[in-house]
Amino acid sequence: MFYTPEDFGVPRHEGTPEENARMLRVAGRVLGAADMGFVKLTDKTKKLLYGNIRFEDVEKGYDPGDGTFVLPNKDLWVICAVIPQSLWMAQFTDRMSWAAANTAAYSRANIYSNRINVFLRGLGYQYYGGDTGAIGRSVPFGVMAGLGEAGRAGILVSPQWGTNFRTVMLTVTDLPLAESKPIDAGIFEFCKACKKCAEMCPSEAIPMDDEPSWGGDKSWQAKGYKGWYQDAKKCYSYMLGGDPDCSRCQAVCPFTKFDEAVMHDLIRISISKAPMLNEAIRKMDDVFGYGQEPSPTKSPWEVNHLDIPLFGLDKSRS
Ligand code: SF4
Ligand code: SF4
Repeated sequence: MFYTPEDFGVPRHEGTPEENARMLRVAGRVLGAADMGFVKLTDKTKKLLYGNIRFEDVEKGYDPGDGTFVLPNKDLWVICAVIPQSLWMAQFTDRMSWAAANTAAYSRANIYSNRINVFLRGLGYQYYGGDTGAIGRSVPFGVMAGLGEAGRAGILVSPQWGTNFRTVMLTVTDLPLAESKPIDAGIFEFCKACKKCAEMCPSEAIPMDDEPSWGGDKSWQAKGYKGWYQDAKKCYSYMLGGDPDCSRCQAVCPFTKFDEAVMHDLIRISISKAPMLNEAIRKMDDVFGYGQEPSPTKSPWEVNHLDIPLFGLDKSRS
């Protein structure tokens, strides 16, 4: 049984949008989200929700039981939460290592989702979504929330976590939240010169074009944004053909590999301020052995277990 303020006969929590946003970010860190951003639902941003979401003039959202979900026509915000994936596990090519990083992050995502819903309910507010079933497009919401930029591989690329997280969890609420804004950390520009994920993709699902475009030429590719259109059918066919949980595009991304070293902070600054150096930085990434598929002889199962960060989450990333 989870209680609401109403159950105790007390008023719900009241705070300014800024106070509420700060409180949720702190709660998110404890409940399993590495970071959060907030997007207000408007006529424009509602287009990023999936087609089974409907709006009606009702006080509370409800499930009509026909496969759709009704949200109330009132001010609503989307809590966008980054769920980190194990960088430690990504350093091995063992298929079960990548699979474990991937599925453990999904599992933590669902646990976080349940917790944040209980948290919102305890404050006296509505909540909808949040589990990995998803209510909308996670990458565009992540971009709108300022959590990263849309990268060549069709994955959100964050300045802090690279591509090493498993989805941006989306939760709709009527708790007023200060909106966060999209960022420009030079990542989109860097992708033009980098292409490492495309070069290393075994199914050729990631385009090699220098420039992004306004639409994929396949019927299953979402249209309407300027970017690179990954071919999910090629990716999935490859994985169903026997290489499950291929995560090469994540493992080799230079942003995923950067660590706490000062040099990498300087590189991040250079990428955002001096894009003419991007090609040189991409070459440096090769020279230093970053962004290469790890050696198949390196096994995750033969290390001292106490050397593994808890949940396999690297402290510099999560
Ligand atoms: S998961 Fe593997 S096959 Fe799919 S896009 Fe990434 S690198 Fe290519
Ligand atoms: S590997 Fe390079 S091209 Fe691909 S998403 Fe990362 S930065 Fe962009």
